[in-house]
Amino acid sequence: MLTPGPLTTSDVTRQAMLVDWGSWDPEFAAVTREVCDWITQIATTTRDDLRCVPLQGSGTFAVEAAVRTLVPAGGSIVVLVNGAYGRRLAEICRRSGRLPIVHETAEDVPPDPADLAALLAAHPEASHVAVVHCETSTGMLNPLAAIADAAGAAGRRLIVDAMSSFGVLPVHAEHPAVDAIVAASGKGLEGVPGMGFVLLPEAVLLASSGRCDSLAMDLSDQYTYLKRTGQWRFTPPTHVVAALRSALEQYVAEGGIAARRQRYQANGDTLLGEMTALGFRSFLPAELQAPIIYTFHAPRDERWHFADLYREVKDRGFILYPGKLTQAETFRVGCIGAVTTEDLKSAVVAIAQSLAALGVAQI
Ligand SMILES: *Cc1c(COP(=O)(O)O)cnc(C)c1O
Repeated sequence: MLTPGPLTTSDVTRQAMLVDWGSWDPEFAAVTREVCDWITQIATTTRDDLRCVPLQGSGTFAVEAAVRTLVPAGGSIVVLVNGAYGRRLAEICRRSGRLPIVHETAEDVPPDPADLAALLAAHPEASHVAVVHCETSTGMLNPLAAIADAAGAAGRRLIVDAMSSFGVLPVHAEHPAVDAIVAASGKGLEGVPGMGFVLLPEAVLLASSGRCDSLAMDLSDQYTYLKRTGQWRFTPPTHVVAALRSALEQYVAEGGIAARRQRYQANGDTLLGEMTALGFRSFLPAELQAPIIYTFHAPRDERWHFADLYREVKDRGFILYPGKLTQAETFRVGCIGAVTTEDLKSAVVAIAQSLAALGVAQI
């Protein structure tokens, strides 16, 4: 699976799902506690007031929970958009009755912190800023630290969608402007999908009590209940949590964030090198590219159809990802998950063989 979640998991992680757990079981409560402690330690080792609040569902559920728990209904929030996940964030705000002030740049252009500062000066009513750290629809790494500085200087709070970067790249959890960092089980931590989580300062969690206008997505309630009883409100995704504990054990054994980043960077460098040798052009320049997922321009050959390549490459053992851009025809290849440079080399060989089988000559 060369996809950015669900992704390739290790045999050990999949085996961790062979046990059924009772949600009320003290041993399962300990698993939840361990998972949350590990996640907090991955985010920061110097700050002790951050709490990890797990939430059932895919990553989007956790993003929506963060917005609805932190931003008051009817409140305004600046949303930085340069891809599909930024647009989804703005849509979450709109649907939940928070007013997004959208600052959009092209899909290959990061937001400029000076523009954000000017926008915040013009919008004193916006209490928060939301940004996607790695915009997975292109693979772009947005300048999180500079954006946090601009938000902090204007006295605003930051919500970070760090879904595909968490555990791989630093998420600047120590920055005083950061209110929430959102990620999920089935991305860079290499668990299976089904659990999101939000990291927040405890004071922010307590201060937001009663603000959320959704029962199931109230992070403050989830936190208080978990802290008091050791149990999740509502049925937890038990097998997902057990798999995540195993994946985190393997993450620590591999060498933590530095080792994970190094392996993904080697994967990405290999992928980009081999694809370029075939004649493919990367959508993003190297300096904007995160080592997570890569976007390539579609070949100009009239025999090119992504669905055909997908099928041919799948027959050869690899799963690719379609493009998600509005401005260009592209497709994507992820380099995260339990995969190595050898896997990426074999994948590019499979792509070359598939193109030949399809008669796509002009790349
Ligand atoms: C995966 C992802 C999400 C969550 O998407 P789901 O489909 O809900 O898992 C959100 N933001 C980013 C940047 C992502 O990569």
